[in-house]
Amino acid sequence: MEVNKILNKLIEIVGSEFVSNNPADLYIYSQDPGASEPRPVDFVILPKKVEEVQKIVRLANQEKIPIIPMGGGLTLSGLVIPNRRGIVMDMKRMNKIIEISPLNRYALIEAGVTSGQLLAHLNNNHPDLQPPIPDAPPSITIAGNALIHGSGYLSQKYGDHGSMINGLEVVLPDGEIYKFGSCALSDYWFTRGPIPDFIGLFISSFGTMGIVTKLSIKLFPKPNMRDIVFGLCKDPSVLPELISNITYADVAEDILLGIQDKPDWMKGYTFIIVYITGETEEELINKTKILKKMYRKAKSRYMKVPKRIEEVFLEKPQFAAKAADFRKGGGFEYVGAFIPLQLIPKMIQIGTDISLKHGIIPTLGARLIGQGHSAMFFISYSFNRADPKDMKNARDALHETNKAALEIGGIPWKAEIAGQQLIMEKMDPNYKKLLKGIKNLIDPNGIMNPGNWEVK
Ligand SMILES: Cc1cc2nc3c(=O)[nH]c(=O)nc-3n(C[C@H](O)[C@H](O)[C@H](O)COP(=O)(O)OP(=O)(O)OC[C@H]3O[C@@H](n4cnc5c(N)ncnc54)[C@H](O)[C@@H]3O)c2cc1C
Repeated sequence: MEVNKILNKLIEIVGSEFVSNNPADLYIYSQDPGASEPRPVDFVILPKKVEEVQKIVRLANQEKIPIIPMGGGLTLSGLVIPNRRGIVMDMKRMNKIIEISPLNRYALIEAGVTSGQLLAHLNNNHPDLQPPIPDAPPSITIAGNALIHGSGYLSQKYGDHGSMINGLEVVLPDGEIYKFGSCALSDYWFTRGPIPDFIGLFISSFGTMGIVTKLSIKLFPKPNMRDIVFGLCKDPSVLPELISNITYADVAEDILLGIQDKPDWMKGYTFIIVYITGETEEELINKTKILKKMYRKAKSRYMKVPKRIEEVFLEKPQFAAKAADFRKGGGFEYVGAFIPLQLIPKMIQIGTDISLKHGIIPTLGARLIGQGHSAMFFISYSFNRADPKDMKNARDALHETNKAALEIGGIPWKAEIAGQQLIMEKMDPNYKKLLKGIKNLIDPNGIMNPGNWEVK
């Protein structure tokens, strides 16, 4: 590759301030906060306009240089660290909130808009509406999260965040702009159907199909009041039915499970965290009564927690990392799997066993998705960033978890490349054949985040 020639062409597109191949600038892009090992990057570029994205993609295609689209870079599983060098396209400058449609309940935004930005904008201008956001740091992008089947406190009620995408504007590897959803034929970005739905192609494909430049995401009415009804359960085998019953009763906004060996009082229990919402105090009281009764019936018990703890849990988004077992050196990566409800007890056992085997304090949990249609089960493995052996230990634990989740019938979430290969080993051959065919059609030179979802 003629580095200077490419650099000059990239400078022509975005200006010298917004592209670099300086090792000091590239350092941070060669790694992420998870347990993956650093990998080399050739250039980082920060486009501002869709026309710039088009020009960069055309250049990359001509020169056969990989492009890795990046939002907040906080997925943790190495998805934005290049595998075969190339250009990291940092979307941060494409951060316009284009339209909030309160009546039609969607936000049309550019791909670099962060969850903190959208949340603040809605709080200031549309306090009755709430966006789907994960319990992740506010610098993550709404696009990056929705595009990996992310989930948050609205997901139990309304589904994972990928399902909340109404429409996309995407620059495909041919450099052309494509629109998907109602925006392909209407001024309103309000739905993805009823036309053949291609949006799924861009979700959990980890930037291998194109670069999303705009998206429309659903917004939801904000409840007047919110409270939590905590429960404590000793026998995980009762959880699937208990949770299923809670969803039948339609009393929960969000349902989370927490299983941790620290603090000591949590060891041996599953902590059930059910969020309830209502218009009046009376409504909350009634829902609390219903839940207490359900806990009792399932040989679990209601738990009163001190106000200061409850307030931490009521923060939206919750700063989930507070609960992780940070080792000296501050690293953690959590791996997840989408599982059917009935596999929750098995996953608790698997997560606990793998953590203990690797000398990591068990820190696991689950979030219900779509009224109990599935659960996102997560296991957090902490490590010391300054200790390569400890990082390898965490990587091994993650890989074992992916394997175990697949064996019992779950699907690893935001899996790193080794995990993606495990998934594809188990995948129906015709699914793989179609994936390969579509990918070759859209990206014949294989420039989009190569290494990911590569059908061998
Ligand atoms: C403390 C902590 C708590 C977390 N809690 C949650 C949680 O509750 N729920 C949850 O879902 N996640 C959670 N996460 C995981 C993760 O941070 C989020 O899912 C996050 O939203 C990912 O968004 P991002 O902008 O960082 O994406 P990135 O990591 O930048 O990108 C994710 C993937 O999407 C691709 N991509 C990004 N932008 C584009 C684009 N414009 N076009 C095409 N492809 C693109 C990337 O190539 C990559 O493959 C948590 C992480 C941390 C550190």
